[in-house]
Amino acid sequence: MKLTIFSRLVIGYLAIFIFAAVVNVYSIMQFHRLKTVTNSILMVDNRLIENEQKLTDLFLSMVRNERKFIIIKDKELYDLFLLAKNDFDELLNETMLIASTGEVKNLIESIDQRYKRYQSLFQEEVTYLKSDQDYLADNYEREKETAVNGITDDLKKIGTISQHYTYKKIIKLNKSEDTAIKAAMGMTATSLVFILIISIFITINITRPLAAIKRKTREVAGGNFESDLKLSSPPEIKDLAVAFNSMCIKLKEIDRMKLDFFSLMSHELRTPLTSIKEGTNLLIEGLSEGEIAERQKRILKIMAEESTRLIDMVNSILDISRIEAGMIKYHFTQADLIPMINKVAREIEPLAETKNVKIEQNIIKKLPVVKVDIERILQVLRNLIGNAVKFTPKGGYVRVFAVPVEKGVKVSVKDTGVGISKENLTLIFDKFHQAMLTSTGKIKGSGLGLSYVKHIIKAHGGEVWAESTLGQGSTFTFTLPV
Ligand code: ADP
Repeated sequence: MKLTIFSRLVIGYLAIFIFAAVVNVYSIMQFHRLKTVTNSILMVDNRLIENEQKLTDLFLSMVRNERKFIIIKDKELYDLFLLAKNDFDELLNETMLIASTGEVKNLIESIDQRYKRYQSLFQEEVTYLKSDQDYLADNYEREKETAVNGITDDLKKIGTISQHYTYKKIIKLNKSEDTAIKAAMGMTATSLVFILIISIFITINITRPLAAIKRKTREVAGGNFESDLKLSSPPEIKDLAVAFNSMCIKLKEIDRMKLDFFSLMSHELRTPLTSIKEGTNLLIEGLSEGEIAERQKRILKIMAEESTRLIDMVNSILDISRIEAGMIKYHFTQADLIPMINKVAREIEPLAETKNVKIEQNIIKKLPVVKVDIERILQVLRNLIGNAVKFTPKGGYVRVFAVPVEKGVKVSVKDTGVGISKENLTLIFDKFHQAMLTSTGKIKGSGLGLSYVKHIIKAHGGEVWAESTLGQGSTFTFTLPV
């Protein structure tokens, strides 16, 4: 089942929420346990200790008054005895109710037994005293003493046991606290790791396909219209990939149509343009007979020059269209670059002289032969040296360097011309891209020469690049492998 981005997010956050809830419930349970133990210490054990002390005090006061009454027979002492007795009875009942363990309950029952015995002994004595009869007072005294000692011992035992329980519970409390802290720390660490894993999972799931789309967008921007974006999930991204691929198919179609159009147009333009050029030249030739005024001669000359420029441009467009359509055929041969550089330098020399620009060559005598299509590389050199002369003002220099490099030759054309801004350095290799000077119309060009250079050098397995500082000249370099 393919989950949408929304459902993935919902599931992820739900998992985090459930985990956090479990951690919280566990913590609450731990604290509840601590509270129960604390309560049992405060409500049961402490109260037992407290009651044991009160019971002992009441019982001793009861025994004191009873003994004094036996000797003095004062009614007031008997009342005091009864008062203490009532309080003792009440407190003993209450203690019986809060006693939590069998041990304490047994002790209270034993106290109760002895207490009842003590009470009945005293009541019997009171009956004897009231009727002024003689009785075995010593016997009674001994028996009461046994009951009293038994009761005080049992009460003491209740105190000791309660203290012992409190101590044990405090140790348990301490241990529970340790466990709770450790558990809380463990759960927090686990939940952090869990949350981290879920977040990474969500991020990877969404960002990975997006990164693939970004990569493909860059390729499209670079002119690769292959519709090969394969993303199967999440569904939204899959739909986007499908739409992206159909966009690529359309772009490819448009690109093809554009190439066809350029190719056709250039081809169709070349013939009439050549006729115009020829016709204009014929007219100029006929001018020597002085039939046309000087001004008209100039106009015809400009027409001839412009026709040549248009034919050159049409040829360049045709070349580029053919290269891009993969229709161009290369004829590679092993060749020495030095004679080729000399040839192009000689060709451009007359133009350079009219501009008072010097062309110099710094070439190592022996260069390794390279595998090239001679005509194409001659065209590359024409474009680079031609541009260098074109963009170098009067009195400047154009220097051509050629050196062997590892597995090939490196050729550089350096000028002292206008230079190229940093942002234009890579763009000038794009079709129709011209830096500011030509676009302002001062220097004429088509913006196709460097695009042609790049295609040809790449087809030879080499590299081409430009370095320049605005106002200080440029260096165009290309490499060719052996
Ligand atoms: P064109 O020269 O026909 O305009 P190119 O493709 O040969 O077309 O060059 C593109 C642009 O690069 C030129 O318009 C120019 O702005 C810039 N350029 C090329 N060579 C140089 C150079 N040697 N010095 C300065 N700018 C240059």
